[in-house]
Amino acid sequence: MSQELSTCTVCGLEEEHTEPEHRTISKPKVAIFSGIMLGLGLIIEFLGLGVLWAYIAFLSSMLSAGAFIIPKGIRGMLKLRLDMHFLMAVASIGAMLIGAPAEGAAVMFLFFISMILEDRAGDKVREEIRGLMELEPPTVMLRTEHGEIPVQPSEVEVGQTIIIRPGDRIGLDGVITEGGTSVNEAPITGESRPVDKSIGDSVFAGSVNNEGYVEVEVTAKSTETVLSRIITLIDESRKNKAPTERLISRFSRVYTPIMLAIAILLGWVDLALGATMVQAVYRSLTIIVISCPCAFAVSIPVSIVSAITGAARNGVLVKGGAYIEAMGKIDIVALDKTGTLTEGMLSVKDICLHNGYSESEILRPAASIETRSEHPIAKALVQAQHRKQLSEADVESFEAVPGRGVRGQIGHAEYLIGNRQFLVQEEVGLQDLADHSCGVGTMVYVAKDGEHMGTIVLADTVRDSTREAIRDLREMGVRTVILTGDSENVAQEVAKAIGVDEYRAELLPHEKVDAVNELKKEGHVLFVGDGINDGPAIATADVGMALSAVSSDVALESADVALMEQDLRKIPQLLRRARQTMSVVKQNVATSITLKTLTGMLAAAGIITLWVSIAVGDMGLTFLVIANALRLARKQ
Ligand code: ADP
Ligand code: MG
Repeated sequence: MSQELSTCTVCGLEEEHTEPEHRTISKPKVAIFSGIMLGLGLIIEFLGLGVLWAYIAFLSSMLSAGAFIIPKGIRGMLKLRLDMHFLMAVASIGAMLIGAPAEGAAVMFLFFISMILEDRAGDKVREEIRGLMELEPPTVMLRTEHGEIPVQPSEVEVGQTIIIRPGDRIGLDGVITEGGTSVNEAPITGESRPVDKSIGDSVFAGSVNNEGYVEVEVTAKSTETVLSRIITLIDESRKNKAPTERLISRFSRVYTPIMLAIAILLGWVDLALGATMVQAVYRSLTIIVISCPCAFAVSIPVSIVSAITGAARNGVLVKGGAYIEAMGKIDIVALDKTGTLTEGMLSVKDICLHNGYSESEILRPAASIETRSEHPIAKALVQAQHRKQLSEADVESFEAVPGRGVRGQIGHAEYLIGNRQFLVQEEVGLQDLADHSCGVGTMVYVAKDGEHMGTIVLADTVRDSTREAIRDLREMGVRTVILTGDSENVAQEVAKAIGVDEYRAELLPHEKVDAVNELKKEGHVLFVGDGINDGPAIATADVGMALSAVSSDVALESADVALMEQDLRKIPQLLRRARQTMSVVKQNVATSITLKTLTGMLAAAGIITLWVSIAVGDMGLTFLVIANALRLARKQ
């Protein structure tokens, strides 16, 4: 992956990070040398030990720091891009020429210091991404006919078996075929408690095996593991810039030449008003130094990227700065019900019999047809079938009707399995459930050749963490709405149990989209779903969030934000974090513009010197905004 960090077009940092650093001389050492020479020059000048010696000291200070700056300025100029390296080189060389060598050296030295500060900030963010990359161990133990051999993860093919011992970091995604253990999946899902795993369970590259010995059949090549996809997506996320970020860099591109023009113009005015050439140039140079736009151009990517990487460490994948900015504005959270608000681990609670059919006559064909569906309801039926040890019937055809149910054929009989509307629409004469005391829950109606055989009642559970999450959102002033395909009764019950403000029930997938569009008229909408029957709604919302992304490729690829595991408390955390990030960005932009305008006006009036303008207007400011941006990274 590319190590490029900055998106700052004015700074010309882009080129710097893409070309590998072969320099043996470190920047800090050069900075120290440059600083000593500057100090020496000032002492010589102060003691009056000879103008020439002082000039030599200043010149070596300026050239040593300038070696990192002037060539970049020239390169930029040749491409007709007046970046800040160009500005600073002009200011410094200009100062040397008009007999202000101390200022010339100071401009270069201090600007160089601020460059080093930026580097440091950028390194911090790159380190976080590198930290994620290091979660893949350098070798894995591959099981072969000739025993175990250590190989690089990239050499392992899908279907091969790797061996994982206690304390090992898991190198590839796979399914346990032997043994049992508990693993720490915190790096992938953010879940800090150990998760128990036994035969048939999936494990992920990057997690750490605790106490057991397990053998794992590899299910993804090393470039396709969840971990490596997370890294790729984070890396790509940096291209997906926040609108504010884009605005600033566009603004900077016109701003620099304009400031240059103003500086020259002011010089002319000074000359016309009777200033000497030296005075006029000095004033122009001061304006040029102040106009350096780097401070905020650098701080914005730093804030946003550190929000993204911080979230990633918490098991939340945000696919771009644009979504951090959008999440800062969210005031309505719409949620899917089954699989999102509820655990999605439904279980069959009861089966109501109609028209003389028996339990197994209903469950066996229904579950056999549902094996082809990925819906949580389908999984519950299949599970019940296994528990009751019913054999599987041969299914001849299968069709899913999203948000309604499924249709399938076994032998010559056609079965419909789904909600009330689905069967009503198919003109099945439904038996009245009231006569059968079916209880409450999600109802799945089963019909064979147009005859209502029975109704399966499913129970769903809600986690405490979900209740907490909704309470948190309400405290933040966020409106919550359930959008579900399930019945009115169930939706109402769940809304009440969890404390969600509103609900809309019996929605088909495209009606969920309409509901999201309506909500969008009333505010900024985050839609949270599990990716089953709600993909279109995820795509429609201002920000679309998918849950349980470790287990669903679709969710990971299609959503703007993916929660690796189902813990809704991460939603309020994320929204809070996004709000903080955007407020830091705004603070930085406002501070920069205010300070620049102020120092710029003072410089135009000839009140402040080059010294002050570089110390306050450039280095001081860069330091300030970067410190402000990094405050966020440290806080979590
Ligand atoms: P939610 O919006 O609550 O996540 P869905 O839109 O996924 O629900 O599904 C809506 C309703 O359609 C379910 O409550 C169920 O009654 C019915 N349904 C959907 N898929 C199936 C299926 N595979 N088997 C049975 N019923 C289904
Ligand atoms: Mg759902």
